[in-house]
Amino acid sequence: MQYVKSYYEIEMALRYYAHLPESIRIEKLSRSVCGELGQKMVDPRRWKEPPHERLANVLRNEEGLCDPHGIEAFLRRYGPLVGRTGLTASDFIEDWSKFTFYQEILRKAWEKDPESLKDVEAQLEILDGTKTKMESGRFVVETINLWTYLCFFFMRDFSAGKAKVCESPDCSTPYFIEQRRGQKYCSHVCAVRENVRRFRQTERKAKQQKSSSQKAGKER
Ligand SMILES: [Zn+2]
Repeated sequence: MQYVKSYYEIEMALRYYAHLPESIRIEKLSRSVCGELGQKMVDPRRWKEPPHERLANVLRNEEGLCDPHGIEAFLRRYGPLVGRTGLTASDFIEDWSKFTFYQEILRKAWEKDPESLKDVEAQLEILDGTKTKMESGRFVVETINLWTYLCFFFMRDFSAGKAKVCESPDCSTPYFIEQRRGQKYCSHVCAVRENVRRFRQTERKAKQQKSSSQKAGKER
């Protein structure tokens, strides 16, 4: 049966408007990444990976916090996550632990934790309050909140069953969006590594079987 699109179904675009940092520095004393926003705006068309994928994969340091250099790189590309609380409108202070707190919610949601999924879903309701308009027959929602924005796209991927965790135990950036159906590994590198591992395992087993059967032969 062919699917007929109802007149009452509407297309929607979600837009994110934010300024990118003009200056940015890591402050060990206040344990934050801070700086000032400039005139340059974020450009989602130039993102190689979506912000939810990037955020989930920011590496953690030995303290269990997101690595400040990872936070800095994230902010340079996507703008501040929750840190727009500076003294002036263009100041931002992204606290390491707060940033990690949000990452943890996202990671756990990715791993299907019900409480974290609720937290993420709650962001979809917040969208109601933002600016909405019609543009060439399309419904356009605008937000300046990066966390809300990325929760929305995470939920889209998650509800479509595309938010996956790489099955390679050695993967350091395991959160990925499925490109092909049934994709188990985040990248070619991980797939090859696991192939080699499997090959070595079979090889080892074969050797063990051979040596044990030889032993059994001698004992006889
Ligand atoms: Zn991987």
